[in-house]
Order: sequence, then structure tokens, then C-alpha cells
Amino acid sequence: MMGASLLYHLALEGWTDCVLVEKDELTSGSTWHAAGQCPSITGSYNLAKIHAYSNALYPRLEALTGQYTSWHPSGGLRLANNPTELAWLQYVLGFSRAIGFSMEIVGLDEIRRLNPFMNTEGVLAAAWTRDDGHGDPAGICNALAKAARDLGATILKRCRVLAVEQLPSSEWQVMTEHGPIRAEHVVNAAGCYAREVAAMVQADAPICNMQHHYVITHPIQAFQERSEEIPVLRDSRASGYLRQEQKSGLMGIYENVGLTEAWAPKGSPEWESTNELFADDLERIAPWLERAIERMPIFGEVGIRRVINGAIPHTPDGAPLLGPAAGLRNYWMCCGTSFGIAQGGGCGKYLAQWMVHGDAEINMTEFDPRRFGPFADRSYVHDKVFLDYRMTFTTRGPNEEEPDGRPRKMSPLHEQLKERGAVYTETFGWERPRWFSLDGRTEQYSYRRNNVFEVVRDEVEAVHQRVGLLDLTGFAKFDIEGADAEPFLNRVCANRMPRRLGGIALVHMLSPQGRILGEMTVTRLTEQRFYALSAAAAELRDRDLLMQSIRPGEDVRIANVTQERGVLVLSGPRSRELLAKLTDAPLDTPSFPWLTGKEIALAGHRTRVLRVSYVGELGYELHPPLGAMVPLYEALVREGAAFGLAHYGLYAVNSMRLEKGYKAWGSELTNELTLIEADMERFFARSKEDFVGRAATLAAPPRPFRIVQLEVEAGDVDPRGAEPVLAGGRSIGLITSGAYGHRVKKSLAFAAVEQRFAAPGSTVDVLLQGESRHARVLAAPPFDPENARMKG
Ligand SMILES: Cc1cc2nc3c(=O)[nH]c(=O)nc-3n(C[C@H](O)[C@H](O)[C@H](O)COP(=O)(O)OP(=O)(O)OC[C@H]3O[C@@H](n4cnc5c(N)ncnc54)[C@H](O)[C@@H]3O)c2cc1C
Repeated sequence: MMGASLLYHLALEGWTDCVLVEKDELTSGSTWHAAGQCPSITGSYNLAKIHAYSNALYPRLEALTGQYTSWHPSGGLRLANNPTELAWLQYVLGFSRAIGFSMEIVGLDEIRRLNPFMNTEGVLAAAWTRDDGHGDPAGICNALAKAARDLGATILKRCRVLAVEQLPSSEWQVMTEHGPIRAEHVVNAAGCYAREVAAMVQADAPICNMQHHYVITHPIQAFQERSEEIPVLRDSRASGYLRQEQKSGLMGIYENVGLTEAWAPKGSPEWESTNELFADDLERIAPWLERAIERMPIFGEVGIRRVINGAIPHTPDGAPLLGPAAGLRNYWMCCGTSFGIAQGGGCGKYLAQWMVHGDAEINMTEFDPRRFGPFADRSYVHDKVFLDYRMTFTTRGPNEEEPDGRPRKMSPLHEQLKERGAVYTETFGWERPRWFSLDGRTEQYSYRRNNVFEVVRDEVEAVHQRVGLLDLTGFAKFDIEGADAEPFLNRVCANRMPRRLGGIALVHMLSPQGRILGEMTVTRLTEQRFYALSAAAAELRDRDLLMQSIRPGEDVRIANVTQERGVLVLSGPRSRELLAKLTDAPLDTPSFPWLTGKEIALAGHRTRVLRVSYVGELGYELHPPLGAMVPLYEALVREGAAFGLAHYGLYAVNSMRLEKGYKAWGSELTNELTLIEADMERFFARSKEDFVGRAATLAAPPRPFRIVQLEVEAGDVDPRGAEPVLAGGRSIGLITSGAYGHRVKKSLAFAAVEQRFAAPGSTVDVLLQGESRHARVLAAPPFDPENARMKG
């Protein structure tokens, strides 16, 4: 499915000289045995766009190609069995408005009308999605293949890939059973074999294959008598899906306890898995089948006719792997999808855009395979994938994370901070404090303000009035040096490198199309040496971007020093006084101004100290060698007691950076926008000589959207991201991130809105948990727009 869809969409984008190499017949991997459902509902806005595209494409395929697809526009019902599920559906309902797929939340009467056979016991409501359907996966796949061939693409069947190597010319040589193919680009779309195929180039595709069952009943009399088909039903109680298959019933189960087995296909030299099914294990799924039959008693009136137990590839976070493989030029991943029928169409479309044009029209951050690194070893992948499978029909609260597979990467302070109440969140394998539980409370996850609201308020208060300490050791860190380091960075980044020694600049890397790929804070350490910092999750992407931009003969050396230094962030009006207790170096503003950095001794340890702040207070980032983290931390805590030092976490950071109007990479700053559209023009050095993306940014036709900051009359539901922005009831934009600003006592958000609503003072509405709330476009960040506190 993934390979055929990509082939078709590459051809649509103009790359018709592509070949899909299949070891057996098309669909002989996972695709042929799929149940073929294509739901609209998923918790991620960007993934929902992928689903929505597939659901728009598949009904057209038969007419387009003449290939039978058996598309059934059945619609779907996702049940809410508890308030958390209902709140989640309200959240998804919001972004369905922005994407444009049909969704409404319906009550019991409507549910019974849509599915008169269902037992609605325990059901609060359901999401009714009309655009959902199901089709014959082999039919859909073959239609995509035909559409690709019609445009000039080639498919070689019964032609196994044996080896892949990169030639000195940087082209790829793909050895197949029928001889070599030389290619500019290679894409791994090998489904359950993706890991084995990635290993041919010493790369990893972090997937694990799960065994999944569905059963088909004997024909049901009542279905014979109806012309209408019941919508596909998705139910957390049964942890599965239930639908009509011709005149029979179909039930698919995701066991959510007691799962022990995964399946690894036999790789080289056998590669024998073709149209493979596993032995039935009805006993294993029996408890959930019973619940499914309680929900649809009519299914229990007839026996089971057929059982399918097949393999599905899953990734640790459940999202597909779409994009470049880490460390390799022009080697792409198009695999790791556990809903490959529903997602195949959209995955092919947006990956093809990325390959052909340098970026896609949707935010691809959460699909980029480089979100995983060496930390995602086999045991991590196993634990996370089992979790993902178990949770398929379980709804988490917002921000809720499970302990499976953790911890992977820890700061040397991990245990000490835990003892002080740190509640950790995981990013790129790093454990990072989200908030501190000082009284032993645990978070009651909710879309509404919850029991952590006042804790975050107190952390913000400490940073604002006194001094706060945050461990952000996970930051990606690079030492970039050489005679050509400065011109190199000036070519790769849109902003100018700092000229003064110790100067700091915020810079962005752009695609040739001018869209935002990365963001770094760069400090000039010496004439020829720079220290660059970027988001923890961006480590491999930024490393690739930097390394792959070095031209032959250029004197630039890049060292990834992420694991060599720790990061302690000291913020607040008393941070300078506290720091002065640990050093003899002068810290007054003339000696150590805002936006400069230097290496000084702190408690006897040579430490890179940067006077920067993401939270809008006087503040310093301390980057000691990793081995000095513990003594430096202990000295800060010891001396900090006199200044009222408090620990704070990423919830507080998010609140404060929104007050400061600081946009975040991955939320506001994405591959969808240029710096100008992101309202970041001051970081676009127009007058600088040519740099990547400059011409394209300047030539870009005005695009419909712009990033603005909103103050929202939020009630007790602060925006978080992916809520629609409305004007006159029409969707005119989307929240990219949001939180309550405790210093300004306002609910704040960034949003991408249509240009004509971007003017300061414009009023719009934001849909929060089903309620329309007024919001106003701000002219300036609400907290200290002059930066007086940071400069002071
Ligand atoms: C029982 C069951 C029900 C499911 N129901 C649904 C559903 O209702 N909706 C949904 O969206 N998803 C469903 N899925 C999941 C879906 O089947 C998969 O997500 C999807 O098929 C993955 O597609 P793919 O193209 O990535 O992999 P595959 O279909 O496995 O394709 C990969 C191809 O690569 C080929 N290949 C591998 N190695 C080589 C090599 N060395 N050389 C050449 N070719 C090679 C294989 O032969 C294979 O054809 C279901 C899965 C199961 C098991």
C-alpha cells in the first residue's frame, strides 16, 4: 500500500522515472489481509489530514483507473464510554472543522438510528464521521499501482531487493534478483520487512510487528433484509472495531492486556513471508470478543466463519515513518504504519511532496523517522510498540504518558530531581522535568484546568519574583569550527552569525523553498568556533542538515556534543546574585550583557554560560561538562536557599514563553511556513548575501496564512494546539500552541490564521471543548515586550 501510493504520488508530482520493486505480488505483505477500514478519527491533527486525504482519494480510484476497489462509504461511529473519551472526541471535533472532514457528536437516539442492532449500554455519545469507509485493500493498492503505471511509473514484481549500497557518486545501487538498479533516491517501503531492508544500509527502522486478529461471522439474516450498511463501530470496551462485511459481521480485536508475542519475519536469506497468516488464537481474544458481542448481540447469534491473524508493523509512538533516514542522503522511509490502508493515500502524497519539492504542505515533524535515534533499541521498540498496540482503542488524557520503555536517556541529576518531585516527560528518549510535585499529588489529566494549574502558577511565580532552576540537558549541542565555519553558517542559516566574540544569535535553517526546517541558538566562541544549540527532538535532523550542507573542500568540522555537556537554566531576578556566589567573573551587564556567552569557572568547573532566556526574565544557561553537573547543581541548591531558589519544569516554560511571544520549533515554526509567514522577519537577514531559502522566501507568492498571537477568553479550557479558529462560524485558522500565562493572567495562544484576520485587534473565536470562545489578535507579546527584565 505504502509503496504503491508513493509511486503514484511521485508520478503525479512529475517523477515518473521511478520503479517499485516487489519481492512477490503486490499486497503480499500486510496489505492483502487488512480489514480495509479507513477511519477519519485520530488524535493528531496532521495524521488526520493524512487520513482525510485517503478518504477523499479512494472513492475516486475506481473511476480513475477502472480497477475494482469495493469502496463502501459506510461512515463510522466512535463510541464515548466515559468522560475522557467524550472530551477527546470534542477535541478531535475541533480540528475536523479545520481540516474539513465530516464529523459530529451524536447522542443515543441518533446512534440507535444509525445502527439499530447496537446495545448502547454505558455509551455517553459517539462521533459520527460520514466520510469513513472501507474497501478491498488489494483493490485499492492495485488501483494506485495502475494509476502510477498509467502516468509512466514502473513496477517490477517477483523481484526481491538483495542489497543496497551508496556509490561514490552518492547515487544508490539497488541489487535485485533481476540485476542492479541505479537510483538517485531509495525509499524503504518494505512493511514488516522494513527493519531488515534498512539494515542493508546499516540504518534502523524502529518497528515491531504485532499479530492482529479479526473474525468474520456467518451471514446474518437481518443484514440480508437491509439495503443500508451499518457504520463501522469503534468501541473501547471491546477494544476493537465491529462492522458489516457483505451480509456478515466482522470484529477486530486489539487485546489490551496479557499480550506477549510479536512477530519478526525471517530476513536474509529466507525472506519467505508471503501472504502469511498465523494460526488462530481465539482463546487469546475471547474476552474482548465477548464484549464485542455484548455490544452487537446480533453477531453472537451466528457462528464464526473465518479468522484472520496477520502481521502489522507498529512504531514506538504509533505514527508512520515518513521522511529521510538519519545520516543518509536521499534514503527515505515510507513504512511503519499500523493503519496503512487508511494512511497509505495521504502518506504517499505528502512524502512525495517532500521528496520532489524539499518539503510537504503539512507539518511532517511528527512523522520524520529521525524522531528516533540509537535510544530506540530493540527493547525500547518492543515495549513501546506493545503499549501502542494495547492503547489502540484506549483514550489517554492530554499530556498523559506511560512508563513503558522508560527511562532511556537521563541527566546526571535525574534521581536527585525525582526526589524533589520531578514529574518527567519524554522527548527523543530524554527524561525532562515537566513539573514538580511538592506535595505528592499526581496529575488528573484533563482538557480543563486541573490540579497542576496552581503548581505551575507557583513555579512561574518563583521564576518571576526570585529564581528558578531547570535541567534541560537534552538540548542538542554542536561545536562547529574551521576556517570556513562562519561563511558556512551564514550560507545555511537565514540570520547573520554574531560578529563579536561571545555574541549570540537566534538562527533558522530553511529549505530551498524557504520553509522553516530548524532553529538554533548560535554563540560565537572564537573567530573560527561556534556553539550551536537546538531542540532535543531535532538532534538528528539538525545534525544531518548541517553535515549534509558542507561543500567539498570547505574547512568546517561539526561535532555533536549533546552527550558531553549538561544544561542548567537559571532564571529570575535573583539569578545573577546567585550565580555570583559561584564565580569571581564579573556578571554586571556591561561585563556580561544580554545575548552574550563566555566560558567561566562556576564552583570551580569551567562552564559555558549564555545570558539568554526563553522565559523572559534575567537568566543564564549553564552548560558544564556532563561530569560537573552534580557538583554544580549541588552548589546552586546550597547557595540558592538564601534566594528562594525553586525548581521548575516545562509546563511553566511553556506558559512563560507564550507570554513572551516566543514561537516554538515544531509548533509555530514548521516546514509549512516561511519566516515571513511565521512573523519572524527580524531573523531573516534580507541584506545578507545568498543563503539557502533566501530567494524562494522573497519570491514566495503571498500565502493565505500568517502566525499571530491571541488572547483567548478561555474559561477553564486553555487552548493547547489544533483547535480551530473561527470567524462568523467559518474555520479561518488553527491554534498551533497555547497555555495560560500566569504572570499576565491571560489565556494565550499562537494561531495560523487567514491574512485578513491577522491585523492586531482583529476578533475571532476559538472552539474549545465544543464551546466557541472570543479571542483577540495581539499587537505585541503581553509580557515585557521591551525585554527590560532580560536586559536588566
Ligand atoms: C488483520 C489485520 C487487519 C488490518 N486492518 C486494517 C484496516 O482495517 N485498516 C488499516 O488502515 N490497516 C489495517 N491493517 C494494517 C495494514 O495491513 C498495514 O498497516 C499495511 O498493510 C501496511 O502496508 P505497507 O505497504 O507498509 O506494508 P506491506 O503491505 O507489507 O508491503 C510491503 C511490501 O514490501 C515487500 N518487500 C519486503 N521486503 C522486500 C524486499 N527485500 N524486496 C522487495 N520487496 C520486499 C513485501 O513483499 C510487501 O509486499 C490491518 C492489519 C492486519 C494484520
